[in-house]
Order: sequence, then C-alpha cells, then structure tokens
Amino acid sequence: TGAAEAAGAPQRARAAELAQELEEHAYRYYVLDAPTVADAEYDALMRELTALEERHPDLRTPDSPTQKVAGAYSTLFTPVEHLERLLSLDNVFDDDEFHQWAARAARESEVAAWLCELKIDGLAVDLVYADGRLVRAATRGDGRTGEDITPNIRTLARVPTRLRGPAVPELLEVRGEVFFPTARFAELNASLVESGEKPFANPRNAASGSLRQKDPRVTASRSLDMIVHGLGAHRGFQADSQSGAYARFAELGLPVSTRFEVFPAVSDVLGYLHRWGQARHDVEHEIDGVVVKVDAFALQRRLGSTSKAPRWAVAFKYPPEEVTTKLLDIRVNV
Ligand code: NAD
Repeated sequence: TGAAEAAGAPQRARAAELAQELEEHAYRYYVLDAPTVADAEYDALMRELTALEERHPDLRTPDSPTQKVAGAYSTLFTPVEHLERLLSLDNVFDDDEFHQWAARAARESEVAAWLCELKIDGLAVDLVYADGRLVRAATRGDGRTGEDITPNIRTLARVPTRLRGPAVPELLEVRGEVFFPTARFAELNASLVESGEKPFANPRNAASGSLRQKDPRVTASRSLDMIVHGLGAHRGFQADSQSGAYARFAELGLPVSTRFEVFPAVSDVLGYLHRWGQARHDVEHEIDGVVVKVDAFALQRRLGSTSKAPRWAVAFKYPPEEVTTKLLDIRVNV
C-alpha cells in the first residue's frame, strides 16, 4: 500500500461506477427482495471501493456507499423515523483482520469481556415498546427512516405485543433480526411455484419478502421468527452491558439467542469463531458469520460509531461456501 494521493480520471470513473453498481444491488436486495448477485460478490465490490478510497481519500465523499448504511424504504409502506439510528457492521474476513480490529478496540481501554453471537442472515427490524406495549415495528431502511411493518410483526408468535413482568420500562427500543427458518425454505418455494409465484433466492430474501407484505395475513402464513440483539432508545431500562441487556430482555419476554457467549480473552473469541464456522449448518437459521461486541456499555460509548457502523462491534464473515448454491438459486429465479 503506497501513500495516499489524489485520484486521477480513471480512478474517479471506477469509483463512480462501483458506487452506482452497489446502489443498484442494494435497491434490488433491500426493496425488491430480489438480488441478482451473491452476497460475496456485493462484498467484493464494496471492498474494491473501500480500497480505492483508502488510496485516494478525496474520493471518499459522505454519500459514498462505504460511508452510509445501505438500504432504502419502499413507498408501499409508511415511512417511520427510528428513535435512534440503526447502523450496519464493519466486516473482517480472517483471523489477522480480526486481531487488528480487536487491538484497535482495546487501545481505548482494556477489554475485559467480549460478547460473541451468531450473525443471523435475516433482515434488521426495530421494535418500540411504550409502557410495555408494542407500539411500532419498522425495517432498518436507510438507518434513519424505515418502513412501518407493525401489523406484520404482530403476526410473529415469538414477538410479544406486551412485555412481561411488573417493572416494564417506560420506553424500550430494541433491534433484532427477522429470519426464515432454513428447514422450511424449500417447502415455501415449492408452494410459491405451485401457485404461479416467483420463488425466493435464499432464506434471507424469503424473510424480507414475507415480512414486507401489504397484507399481514400473508406474513402470518409464513414461518417467520425473530431474535433481538440490540438496544436503542430507552427510559426506565437498566443494564450496564450487552449481556446484561440480553438477560433483562429475556425477563421481559423478548426472544434472545441462547448461543451467545462472553469471553475475557481474544483467543477464546477465535475459538468461538472457528467452532461456529464448522457448525454453521446446525442452526435453524442461516448465519453468514459471527458478531463480536465489546460487552460493557461504558466502553461501547467511549468507542462510539462512524456514520456507518459502531466501533465496538464487528462482523467476522465466513468464507462464502454458499456462493454457488445462491447463484444457482438466483439463476433459477431469473
Ligand atoms: P451486514 O449484514 O454485513 O451487517 C449488519 C447487519 O447485521 C445489522 O444491520 C444487523 O441487523 C445484522 N445482524 C445479524 N445478526 C446480528 C447480531 N447478532 N448482532 C448485531 N447485528 C446483527 O451489513 P448490511 O449493511 O446489513 O448489509 C450488507 C450485506 O448485505 C452485504 O455484506 C451483503 O452480504 C448483503 N447485501 C447483498 C446484496 C446483493 O445484491 N446480494 C445487496 C446489498 C447487501
């Protein structure tokens, strides 16, 4: 890697081309639920643009796809502003990149606890509870504004419409992933084909397409599930760590994963990453990696976020063994 220098015309043209391609793929993926390239291919374009901007920082404008949360909201749904922004995650693709990320996080202050959990390949959804009642559910959209899908979310059996217990918080905004169970995917596609409809490219698109239905009865007929993995705006909710928040979510009746673990040492984190890399098909939903978070909220606050992603969390992405099957599925789909 050489020193940064101003971009010439060819680099500028390539950056513009990459940005346009990424925006188009994001639209097909987030709004139409019909991607035409595999995730690994999208990731490769993003990495090329990131590398180009690192060499030529003058190309890195605030509206670059590398600098903002990908996604959009469709006019089919009412737009809603999130109380707090929903961010994306930075990626690392191997042990070395993970070590570099962990060292950067630990530079601020020693990290006593790392929380590891599965990265669910679904779609991000934001839930707002006021005095314990579910008052709004929305997709991530562009991170600030999402689509109002409250009637659809109400059809998910595991998402409570009322929080449990005597001490419910006055306000609680949580984020999580809605997913389509892998075991039911072939069955869904077969029934769609039978009724003359288009099958979905993969379970992630099945989740998004099934949730983002104008008629919530269609959503109700699909086997959607949700796992909550983040805290947004809140009043009357106490927790001082990510794992503490999960324990409190569970008491309130929210669906949390049972597969997260907290470790004191980076070497244990790597053990978890490799273990789940081997066992990724033993899970009821697709996973595209593992998410590692600094557990303590005080340290999360100190590390803060960029315009796109928190600095206190990272996605360790597994090698794309599904590339061929996904491409095949997509080929069937077009
Ligand atoms: P991302 O999927 O890499 O990571 C961020 C998201 O992970 C969060 O929004 C969150 O909802 C989710 N997540 C899942 N489990 C989580 C957990 N345990 N804790 C925290 N968050 C968790 O980034 P993104 O910005 O959502 O999307 C980019 C990815 O989407 C790309 O890497 C690509 O794989 C895919 N994509 C594909 C296409 C395509 O055309 N194939 C287009 C756009 C995006």
